[in-house]
Order: sequence, then structure tokens, then C-alpha cells
Amino acid sequence: MSFHNKCMKNMYAKEFCKEDDKMVEVIKDIAVIGGGPAGLCAGLYAVRAGLSCVLYEKYPLSGGQIINTGEIENYLGIPSADGFSLADVFSRHTQNAGVTIVNKEIVSVKKSDGIFTIGFTDGAEEKFRTVIAATGAVSRHLGVPGEEKLTAKGVSYCAHCDGAFYRGKTAVVIGGGDTALTDALYLSNLCKKVYVVHRRESFRGANLLVNRLMQKENVELVLNSRVTEINGENTVSSVTVESVADGAVTEIKTDGVFIAVGITPVNGLFKNLAEVDDAGFIKAGENCKTSLSGLFAAGDLRTKPLRQIVTAVADGANAVHSAEEYLR
Ligand code: NAP
Repeated sequence: MSFHNKCMKNMYAKEFCKEDDKMVEVIKDIAVIGGGPAGLCAGLYAVRAGLSCVLYEKYPLSGGQIINTGEIENYLGIPSADGFSLADVFSRHTQNAGVTIVNKEIVSVKKSDGIFTIGFTDGAEEKFRTVIAATGAVSRHLGVPGEEKLTAKGVSYCAHCDGAFYRGKTAVVIGGGDTALTDALYLSNLCKKVYVVHRRESFRGANLLVNRLMQKENVELVLNSRVTEINGENTVSSVTVESVADGAVTEIKTDGVFIAVGITPVNGLFKNLAEVDDAGFIKAGENCKTSLSGLFAAGDLRTKPLRQIVTAVADGANAVHSAEEYLR
């Protein structure tokens, strides 16, 4: 597509301009990798700062993990929204502001002579002066017998995607963070009975959610307990639960198991470029600067104490601010 009498863009949003009668590649300022709240906000701040930027998101829908999140009530200014709708608002805002979103999967990121080269699945490459890593995180697996075999046959990592299959049935939610609590609340409105199995006495997630859950008559909290096995032949039939206190073993009959035991960073493109912590999150402070100059980490992928939409979008803004300083 021609957008300037001397310049052209290709399908990767790579830009070429005519110089001395030759087409030379224009190296853009920022590649944002990942289209969740952090990446979308980074794109917005980049275009508003007058920087040239392309946002790469491998899926056709931007929004990241929030697409699969139910009710969101803690994003300032939006008292209540479902994750899918909020992701849509973020995405439209960003695109209306002029951010180019390219739905291509990136397979490599390299830095040489101060320039980043990103590679795509089809072998094409594109160059940028800085990269904002915003690939987020995915659900962690529990690692117990039966989990892998029964995934998608009763075992799920997304209550909002699969909950409707358990209408009027029994579900077990495993975990004690915000995800487990919001999943259990969501399922309590669909299921006949919901068990929440958590390995400790107290929850990591918000008290407000715990209190709401305790008011639900069809929810039973199974505390100080671990699920040691997920049972069933073709579909889930029960979970084996072991008491952390005395080792007593019980069985809970259930139709579905929703695993919500935390997240694993999607760091494959960056873990050999910048320092990561023991869990694989890219080490970076509030300014999002990583150990590699020109590479910034934003959102759930970054080491941080609180992973929320509001902290992810703040990272997007901070990462661009740091990138601007670096480019100057
Ligand atoms: P999380 O906060 O890390 O909680 C993971 C939970 O799983 C913890 O309770 C943990 O137990 C338990 N767990 C971990 N490994 C386990 C294992 N092997 N066996 C049994 N239990 C295990 O993860 P999350 O709930 O997915 O939340 C991730 C981030 O997203 C958090 O920052 C959260 O606040 C945020 N989030 C926000 C919202 C919202 O604001 N609407 C919604 C969802 C998530 P311990 O407590 O004993 O460690």
C-alpha cells in the first residue's frame, strides 16, 4: 500500500522510502510485542508521542488474558465490565488513535549493532530501534496425574470459556488467588455445587471476593487441602484430595475441574536476551527497563508485586516513556 509518494509499507508494516533513487528500509522506533492491556497502552502512548510503532499480536483478537476474564470491577472509571468488552474498548481506542496492529506471530528477537531484528514464522524479518515485550502470561498447570489426559474432557483453565458446560452440575475450582475466587463466583451462578480446594487456610485473593464467596450457599471451601489426582476415564468423575494438616485422603465427585493456580510468563522470545527471575518473569522495575538496553518489559511478563489490568496499562505508558528517553 502506498502512503507517501516516496514511501511504501508492506504487510508487516515495514516501511521503505526512496533515497538517492534506492528504496531503503525505514527503521521504526518501537515494536510492541503482545496485544494485552500493557501492549495496547504502550501502542497508544507511542503514537501520541509521535513515535513510529507497530504492535504485533499473534491472535486476531487483542486483549490478552482479560478476554477470558469475567466481571471486572476494579478498573478505575469502569465500575463493571466483562473482560471481553473491556478488551474491545481498549483495542478500539488504540486503533482509533492510529496504532498499527499486525496479527503475525514472532518467532525470534535479536539485537545487533543497536538495532533489534524480529523474525516471523514465514522467515520475514523487520528492524526496530526498541522493543517493548508485553507477551504476558498463561495459566500454570497443576502437574497431577489425570490433568493432562482429561484436559478439555472436564479439566479446564478458563471458567468463563467452559463454565456453561457445567450448568446444573458440580465443579471443583483449585487455587486461592483472584482468578480462583472470581472463577468460583462465576461458576456458583451456573453450577449446582462448587468446591474451592485451596492448599492453605487463608486466601491470596481479595477479601471482598472471599466474603462474597462465603455468602454463596452452593459453595464449599475445602481449605488446607491439595488435589493429588484427577480421576475419570473419558471425562472427569472425581478428584482425590489430601489434607495438608493430617494427610487424610478424601474423594470429591465432580463433573468439572477448573485449575487456577497462577500464571507462567510467556518469555520464550526474551529469556535469552534479558535477565529473568526464578519463575521466568523478566527483571525490570517500574521504568520497565530490562538488563538489555532498548528492551523494555511491560505487564504480567515483568517482575512486579501486583498483576492487575491497571498495573499493566501503567507499565505500557512507563515503557514508552523509557523508550523515548532511550531513543533520545
Ligand atoms: P496467584 O495470585 O498467583 O494465585 C495462585 C493461587 O494458586 C495461590 O492461591 C496459590 O497458593 C495457588 N497455587 C499455586 N500453585 C499451586 C499448586 N501447585 N497447588 C495448589 N495450589 C497452588 O494467581 P492468579 O489468581 O491467577 O492471579 C494472577 C494475577 O492476576 C494476580 O496478580 C491477581 O491479582 C491478578 N488477577 C486479577 C483479577 C482482577 O483484578 N479482576 C482477576 C484475576 C487475576 P498459595 O496462596 O498457597 O501460594
